[in-house]
Amino acid sequence: MKIICIGRNYTDHIAELKNEKPTEPVVFIKPDSSLLPKEQDFYIPEFSNDVHYEVEVLFKIKKVGKHIKASFAHTYYDEIGLGIDFTARDLQTTLKEKGLPWEKAKGFDGAAVIGEWLPKTNFKDLNDLSFDLKKNNEIVQSGNTGLMLWKVDELIAYVSTFFMLKKGDVLFTGTPAGVGKVAANDYLSGSLENKELFNVRIK
Ligand code: ZN
Repeated sequence: MKIICIGRNYTDHIAELKNEKPTEPVVFIKPDSSLLPKEQDFYIPEFSNDVHYEVEVLFKIKKVGKHIKASFAHTYYDEIGLGIDFTARDLQTTLKEKGLPWEKAKGFDGAAVIGEWLPKTNFKDLNDLSFDLKKNNEIVQSGNTGLMLWKVDELIAYVSTFFMLKKGDVLFTGTPAGVGKVAANDYLSGSLENKELFNVRIK
């Protein structure tokens, strides 16, 4: 499986990192080796002094497709989840300044947390889902999918013009404002519509 991530999809997060508002979705991929195994702690890698959490709503692709029309995109997923796009921000900043790819900053081992999946039929409107991330039991990020610059069906249409989607692929849809640094012994937990879908201990 591959993990397809969208960057800069929430205006408030674009502002906090002083990025330009994109005219097309920003897309990058994490390798399957970046998936943090279930129940495993997250170890801050030695090459970074500034690893950030980014909570994001996830969609699991259920069948093969390419050049998918936005109007058919909803037939490509049945499950919705929540996860973290861990980012070595110091490394990413250096790479961005040099115009180099971000993979080392975003695709390292353990950099993708994928929580429990829920059937999309649990929700009335996928473009009105509230979610949040707590650090040590205090809310540090909260968002709503209604605030995404590109909605999930538009994202699936867009990315499938470049990458064939396969069963089991996961789409990370971008993070709202409030990203921040993790430290050893932090405890992160993420909830979608007030249901906790993951928790992870930082080491
Ligand atoms: Zn992200």
